[in-house]
Amino acid sequence: MPESALTAEVFVTPSIPAETGVPGARSIWSPISATLISGTRDAVLVDAFLTEGQARDLGDWIEASGKNLTTIYLTHGHGDHFFGMTPLLRRFPGARAVATPGTVAHMHQELEPEFFQAFWESTFPGQLPNDLQVAQPLAGSVIDLEGHELRAVEAGYSDTHDTTFLHVPSLDLVVAGDIIYNGVHQYLARTSKATRQQWIAAVDQVAALHPKRVVAGHKAPGAQDSPRAIADTRAYLTDFDELLDKVGDPAELVDAMLARYPDRLNPDALRLSVRRVFASERAGYPA
Ligand SMILES: [Zn+2]
Repeated sequence: MPESALTAEVFVTPSIPAETGVPGARSIWSPISATLISGTRDAVLVDAFLTEGQARDLGDWIEASGKNLTTIYLTHGHGDHFFGMTPLLRRFPGARAVATPGTVAHMHQELEPEFFQAFWESTFPGQLPNDLQVAQPLAGSVIDLEGHELRAVEAGYSDTHDTTFLHVPSLDLVVAGDIIYNGVHQYLARTSKATRQQWIAAVDQVAALHPKRVVAGHKAPGAQDSPRAIADTRAYLTDFDELLDKVGDPAELVDAMLARYPDRLNPDALRLSVRRVFASERAGYPA
């Protein structure tokens, strides 16, 4: 029997500058969320941010909660959701970090020295934590928090491979990682027509649980964690493919998406997505 009701709070880091490799040109990295699910004494953190500074702020926030951090769950293997885990484990030595085996394998890929240097270190020079670790594989799919079940659900491809979400039935809560976006342009740069369909299927897995609260991995600061984000994420994907079939060039697709989604944060993410999708799906466009 659970001891008492759980609570969940969400911390959102604002956008930060990202180096593009082009002198003088900077881009921004979308805001990222982390969620603290708390019982009377203990707490479980979901996702852990990117930079050393973000992890310090997140650690301060966890400390201020007064809860005992037992577990960090990582929803997927993208560095912007797990690099902050390493300094948090140093700061909270009683906590363990867990993820599905597919996510752990993805974390190893993110940390391969050549890719890590070429992408992560050059995009955020001097800002990333040292001696980055990967999570331990979660045994089974359930994390216990004072008698409540937190269920890790594998959902396949969304904005990358092997993504998951955490379902907390006693709160009617889904912490969705990158399967759901809220008020932020979706990262489609690593998708294909087939994987965008898989992403829609992952969104539908979340929808089938009828959660009352949905925390998106990338959300606009201050946005409500409304389940409306489920339908919005789905519509963005179907709109993208509908418009992709109609437009003649990348600029036309960017304009058409911005006309439908004028308020989402980080249009640079849309421009990058469109460029990459044209390069991989249509002949004659450079990568
Ligand atoms: Zn992400």
